[in-house]
Amino acid sequence: MSGFVFSEKPVAIESGEGPYLYADDGTEYLDFGASYAVAAVGHCHPKVVEAVQEQAAELMYVQASYPVAARTELYGKLATLAPEGIDNVWLCNSGTEANEAAMKFARSATGNSKIIATKRGFHGRTLGALAMTWKRKYKAPFEPLAGDVEFVSYGDEEELAEAVDDETAAVFLEPVQGEGGIHPADPEYLRAARDLTEEAGAALAFDEIQTGVGRCGTLWACEAAGVTPDVLTTAKGVASGLPLGATLCADWIAEEPGDHGSTFSGGPVVCAAANATLDVIVEEDLPTHAGDLGGYLTERVEEAAAAHDLPVRDVRGRGLMIGIEVKRGANRVLRDLALEEGVLALPAGRSVVRLLPPLVVEEEHADRFVDALTGVLG
Ligand SMILES: *Cc1c(COP(=O)(O)O)cnc(C)c1O
Repeated sequence: MSGFVFSEKPVAIESGEGPYLYADDGTEYLDFGASYAVAAVGHCHPKVVEAVQEQAAELMYVQASYPVAARTELYGKLATLAPEGIDNVWLCNSGTEANEAAMKFARSATGNSKIIATKRGFHGRTLGALAMTWKRKYKAPFEPLAGDVEFVSYGDEEELAEAVDDETAAVFLEPVQGEGGIHPADPEYLRAARDLTEEAGAALAFDEIQTGVGRCGTLWACEAAGVTPDVLTTAKGVASGLPLGATLCADWIAEEPGDHGSTFSGGPVVCAAANATLDVIVEEDLPTHAGDLGGYLTERVEEAAAAHDLPVRDVRGRGLMIGIEVKRGANRVLRDLALEEGVLALPAGRSVVRLLPPLVVEEEHADRFVDALTGVLG
């Protein structure tokens, strides 16, 4: 073994199709974490595979200063799909980089440095995004970080009102906190954040890296609250596993060309993967499907918990972003789900089982998950 950053699970995965992963010994796993929400349209969606293969055969890479059809198409698609008015697109290679760019753009557009982020929030692991991330454990060994970040309690309008002032560059919010335990924001809170930042001349940045591309029942989670931010970041599911992040921003935030950059920005193969992924999401109306299936799954989990007196404290979320708070450690539940039931999910803190299934799951998959959970917790 030579990798050292990740601890690995005792299962070697060889292939994937739709909501399933297959181990090298042939065992089938139902992937209800979509491998960190990345397999939004399912593993190896044929349209995405085809687009990637075709583009790879034609041109693998050209520097971002030369227009190339796949990138031009993605700029247009993201600008069209983004909430109205945030149609400037910066492409990069991960979620944390999309947030780094958002921080830089907001600082430069406002001339301010102070950033407001939230307790329990997660925005990535590079030094800027990490500075906006709440958990001490992620930060302590690496300090000093890219400072001037003030933390407020997520959901507390008054605290936010006190923190936002004319020295604020940006407020960063996840419309539903993911890593922090699946906590959806009250739409009222997002609207308050909009008003406060507008009054102060600060940028409102929504980190939709986990909530976006249809997961929460609308293409972007902020749409459900009727709030348009100045900056929106996306990554994870947007290119089906090829590394792509995007920072979408309003005109007043957008930089002059050359102020920020990255060699791999908008390579044609990742762009082709993102174009095909977004096409599938739109053509199959997966956001609506995620809303419906999320409702079904949540109800079924609640019913099973009540009927079998399962040690479940709470079930919460939006669409197919669901947290099941359990009374014993989530990691043990997740291990038993994987090894005994062939179902994969994710933790969100110590006590929350996090479900981020591919948006293409059907009721039969939800039923299988609920049976597995009942088996493990019962
Ligand atoms: C995963 C995630 C990130 C970081 O994305 P990476 O691609 O891992 O750098 C940032 N914000 C949120 C909300 C995330 O879920």
